[in-house]
Amino acid sequence: MSAGGEPYSEALSAAARRAAQWLATLPDRHVGPAQSAYDLAAVFAGPFPSQGMSAAAVVEYLADKAEPGLMAMPSGRFFGWVIGGTLPAALAADWLVSAWDQNSGLRYATPAIAAIEEGAGHWLLDLLGLPAESDVGFTTGATMANFTGLAAARWRLLADAGWDLDGDGLAGAPRIRCFVGQERHETIDLGLRYLGLGRPTAVPADAQGRLVAAELDRLLSEGSGPALVCLQAGNLHSGAFDPFDAAIEVARRHGAWVHVDGAFGLWAAAVPEFGDLTRGMALADSWGTDAHKTLNVPYDCGIAVVKDSTALRNAMGLHTSYLVHDVEGPGDPFQKVPELSRRGRGVPVWAALRSLGRDGVAAQVRGLADAASKIGSRLAEVDGIEVLNAVDYTQVSLAFRDDATTRAVTARVIEDGKVWMSGSHWQGRDVLRVSVSNWSTDADDVGTAVEAVSSALAAVVAAD
Ligand SMILES: *Cc1c(COP(=O)(O)O)cnc(C)c1O
Repeated sequence: MSAGGEPYSEALSAAARRAAQWLATLPDRHVGPAQSAYDLAAVFAGPFPSQGMSAAAVVEYLADKAEPGLMAMPSGRFFGWVIGGTLPAALAADWLVSAWDQNSGLRYATPAIAAIEEGAGHWLLDLLGLPAESDVGFTTGATMANFTGLAAARWRLLADAGWDLDGDGLAGAPRIRCFVGQERHETIDLGLRYLGLGRPTAVPADAQGRLVAAELDRLLSEGSGPALVCLQAGNLHSGAFDPFDAAIEVARRHGAWVHVDGAFGLWAAAVPEFGDLTRGMALADSWGTDAHKTLNVPYDCGIAVVKDSTALRNAMGLHTSYLVHDVEGPGDPFQKVPELSRRGRGVPVWAALRSLGRDGVAAQVRGLADAASKIGSRLAEVDGIEVLNAVDYTQVSLAFRDDATTRAVTARVIEDGKVWMSGSHWQGRDVLRVSVSNWSTDADDVGTAVEAVSSALAAVVAAD
């Protein structure tokens, strides 16, 4: 007899109860973890027991023992890297995805997941103003979403140069010249490396980290042959957007494919007031973004969007006879992402979009930027604090007197644990970076952030 719900119910109830307890600690727990992975190794490693344990007991054990090693990333007081929180509908939908356990690669085999993901894809293209005919694939993150777009670019550029990449591989192929902004995210380089495209040429950037279109034109003019240009929506340190209009006009003149890394910045296109930041972005060929950052679905989910579906499906598809797949129309999910087998990652995206609605997504993104702007302007008034960037989006980079002070303030903020922010290095200076990416960050959290940074500075100065 196959298992019904009964063997699962006790463990699932335990998981629901323990998850609720964890979420309830988020408003006021110390944000950082109390124990390191070294501390916890003793708990989770050791000799492998020969006897099993009941499912519910496993869940309780995990929840008890993991607790001190958890970082309050889903808290509204977490401002590190660019992480994002979790919307209730997205979290709950993610649980359903696990319970449904659909291997979501084939449209005919898992029609509900295919339809949900296609629906989410259409909403996204509409919301972000991207070409309606584009293919959308759900990946693990922006690294793989960018990789997917770049793989489609490689296929198209070589096909147009008369090279059979699938048959002959890369050795002896025409060289693809790759251009990235000086301040691109390093995972773009990683994607290019996965694809055997080598180290890209870095195009100089301005004071906010935006690629300079005239410099791109100059560098493209120095050579000839297939070219790939990677632009960025949302600089990690300044939140700045590359000048899409000008840069894409240049790239087109040189026949280049344009990919946009918009891991957290693509979502600015959902907000009419941010039209200046994203103008021209839709004229690119491919886009990579994350759903786990600005949209706030649980880890993990990235989204690849590629206008040229022939290029994408040739780059990512399988042509194996045992897989019955759609050759026309929407295509099978596995033709749009690196994986064959995968979970229904797009389901929490659909749930997040459905719970917010178009206006709700815009309000969420606007809210993140508003909070960043308030944190930036209030901290700029504090003696000894410099805001280094123009806070037009969700990122604030702060510096304090000198690098040593900045590092000490960063350590102090993290140790105090009221908020969590990353130390980083930008344009020759150490910085404390504030990244607002959680839907639940509210006015109180903004106040806590301002207070935490100001009092950390006061403590560091007093100890001097
Ligand atoms: C986070 C980020 C990435 C990488 O995304 P992952 O989801 O970590 O794979 C790429 N580019 C930018 C601008 C990012 O912020």
